[in-house]
Amino acid sequence: MNVFAALARRSLPARRTLRILWAAPVSLCALPLLPLALWRAQWRVIDGTLEIASPALGWFLHGPWFRLLTGGSGFAAATIGQVIVARDSHALAECRVHEHTHVRQCLRWGVLFPLAYIAAGLYAAWRARRISAYYEDNPFEREARAAEAAAACIGQPF
Ligand SMILES: [Zn+2]
Repeated sequence: MNVFAALARRSLPARRTLRILWAAPVSLCALPLLPLALWRAQWRVIDGTLEIASPALGWFLHGPWFRLLTGGSGFAAATIGQVIVARDSHALAECRVHEHTHVRQCLRWGVLFPLAYIAAGLYAAWRARRISAYYEDNPFEREARAAEAAAACIGQPF
């Protein structure tokens, strides 16, 4: 038995620490956004995830790289490892369930998450023969949208 397997079986905090370390290289990819995250920003930690809302991050979220995927609108929020960035606190609140699903996916897949996400999106686009399926039919996005729908149902009165 290797050291990681022994630690993983030891306790939940050890398992959580291993997952955080496993996803840390992805989380560190958020560092270049730090200058944008300092201007009129709100920072908070929820469930071990750093959430940052700043109007300057809107520039990143509405950049051509995201407009291509969404057909022009860009995103209100995005997840980079255990860092969620949003254009404002309202967008962050609306997207929280969706983005925290991506955080859990990243903790599960670790450093492989970006590659798995891209591969799943490319496969979805290839199957549907349209680029918008990269995002719409990506299984990681479908899981996040299902979590949103479940949370919305829980919040509805009977
Ligand atoms: Zn998503």
